Amino acid sequence: MPELLQVQIDLTALQREIDALAEISEQPAPVVTRVLFSEADLRARKFVKRLCGDAGLALRADAVGNLFARWPGKNSGLPPVATGSHIDAIPNAGRYDGVVGVLGGLEAIRALKRAGFEPARPVDLIVFTAEEPTRFGIGCLGSRLLSGALAPDKASGLRDREGVALEEWRARAGCAETALESVRLEPGCYSAFVELHIEQGPLLEREGIPIGIVEKIAAPAALRLELTGEGGHAGAVLMPERRDALLAGAEIALAVERAVTSTGSADTVGTTGVFRIEPGAVNSVPCRALLEIDVRDTQQPARDAALRQIEQAVAEICRRRRVEWNLQTLNADPPALCDAELVNAVATVCERLQIPARRMISRAYHDSLFMALLCPMTMIFIPCRDGVSHRPDEYSSPEQIREGVRVLAGTLAALAAR
Ligand SMILES: [Zn+2]
Repeated sequence: MPELLQVQIDLTALQREIDALAEISEQPAPVVTRVLFSEADLRARKFVKRLCGDAGLALRADAVGNLFARWPGKNSGLPPVATGSHIDAIPNAGRYDGVVGVLGGLEAIRALKRAGFEPARPVDLIVFTAEEPTRFGIGCLGSRLLSGALAPDKASGLRDREGVALEEWRARAGCAETALESVRLEPGCYSAFVELHIEQGPLLEREGIPIGIVEKIAAPAALRLELTGEGGHAGAVLMPERRDALLAGAEIALAVERAVTSTGSADTVGTTGVFRIEPGAVNSVPCRALLEIDVRDTQQPARDAALRQIEQAVAEICRRRRVEWNLQTLNADPPALCDAELVNAVATVCERLQIPARRMISRAYHDSLFMALLCPMTMIFIPCRDGVSHRPDEYSSPEQIREGVRVLAGTLAALAAR
């Protein structure tokens, strides 16, 4: 198919759109913060919807706010090919995580249209709701519901830290007219899913390779731990009497580090990324602590071994320090294998475009982890400066983005041609 090799990416338009989307933030530039269903998130959705409409795509939103922008194919009865990513951003983030897959995916479709390509089957651009776990402590909310990995009744019980339920947020966002049950899609509904994303790691840049093709996504897990001790005056309560929630939490954070460094797998990582205490006064013994702990590995047994070791440590430390504890597993997902044929299809496109590529593992997880439950899936990675992500200085160059979009466009064309 020679025409797919001649796709022209409009890099000026794409970069302008990436920069315009970055302006839609809860915090001033260069910081990007867009928490699920915040005013900035809603405005960002509107912005992307307008671009999709301008590109002539048909829009649909489901009951949790996942957006589907469709380019109809010659045969609307065939399962579509899909691409996409997310536009929500954790507090103090940058402008490329997720966005490159959404706006780059849109530009890939526009470039194919400009080149006169006519897909045999529909091509969907999906903007997933809440890939980031910021509001509800659980990542990939939209794709979990799409794939059935999260049951609707469990989802409707979700509450944010202020106690506001997902149902309430759905109503505020105007997508509560249909029930959450309607979000789920059947396996086979898509013929393939390919997500373009920045690597969020240093390998591609270090090796000077413009494209990574993902073969496997690591297994993520997240725990939420509430510790309740006893508060009191920092001068009056003597040390033997104390039931300090912070000190228990501090020991637990160190136990997490011990657990993940003793699994025998170099890939096990653990992070206590949230640690809040109450009442938070210099002259007051901390009576409550909230910790959120993230544990991952590409091998599920190693990840699960670390989780068990953390649970035992929590029990031991809290007993010894007479602190009450409530440990909740927010998620413990299996790793996902990418489809070998699809990985080969992307590799072939790279060869034909003469763009060097390497196969790799995704240590971060993405909506693709859950799309794997619905259809063959892989991801296309592009380098990002110093491997930095989830920070305002996150950066991929326009040229790096262009190579990613070219490979995505070529892949979508190959997959949608038949
Ligand atoms: Zn992302």
